[in-house]
Amino acid sequence: MNEELQTLWALHELDERLVALNGSLARFPAQRQTVERRLKDERARLDTMKHRGAETLLERKKIEKDIESLAAEERKFQSQLPLVKKNEEYSALLHEITGAKQKRSDRETDLLMLMEDEERQAGERPALEKAVAGVEAEAKERLAAFAAEEARERDQVAGVERERAALMTRLPAAMRSRYERIRTSREGRAVVPIVKGACGGCYRGQPPQMLQEARRGDRLIVCDGCGRLLIWPPESSG
Ligand SMILES: [Zn+2]
Repeated sequence: MNEELQTLWALHELDERLVALNGSLARFPAQRQTVERRLKDERARLDTMKHRGAETLLERKKIEKDIESLAAEERKFQSQLPLVKKNEEYSALLHEITGAKQKRSDRETDLLMLMEDEERQAGERPALEKAVAGVEAEAKERLAAFAAEEARERDQVAGVERERAALMTRLPAAMRSRYERIRTSREGRAVVPIVKGACGGCYRGQPPQMLQEARRGDRLIVCDGCGRLLIWPPESSG
């Protein structure tokens, strides 16, 4: 294999690593999103509970106020009882008193039910808070692990990029731009091996004459199918 082909083959190996590394890096956004979505859902559950707690508190204050004013109303009617002279006024007042009592009793029932609800909410909350804290801690840990892993892979990419930049300088300028042009248009692969007499990129079979030349390793073969550069893999015997 001549020197240029050797350089191209070495570039091919580096670019294969870049394709694999970039493919691997592409998983991070989705992984992060999964963790963040779970965290958001869990926090939303706690927020809903807090919101409900605040609403229940407002409702309780309202009921307590109602009970107070119904009691005041009842006391007012009670205090008027000794003052009325007529029987019908007296029974009308008694009727008002009964009505206020009944309303107050209804509101007291409402209050009891609401307090039961409050108690249940208060009982559920610690477990939910604990669950949220757990999910938060886990999310933090996982995001940190993703960041570390991503940084490690990006370092590897940078290392490979440096190696390939050094190799590139060995190629004549025309070959360099040709290589990069093919690489850009062919998903990061400008050079592919010949596999079973066919292009390793698009699988088009190559003419026997070309295969002979490729095997001798002294001439660059271009695939008619995909335009990639074909090299007979050095480690392969046939
Ligand atoms: Zn091809």
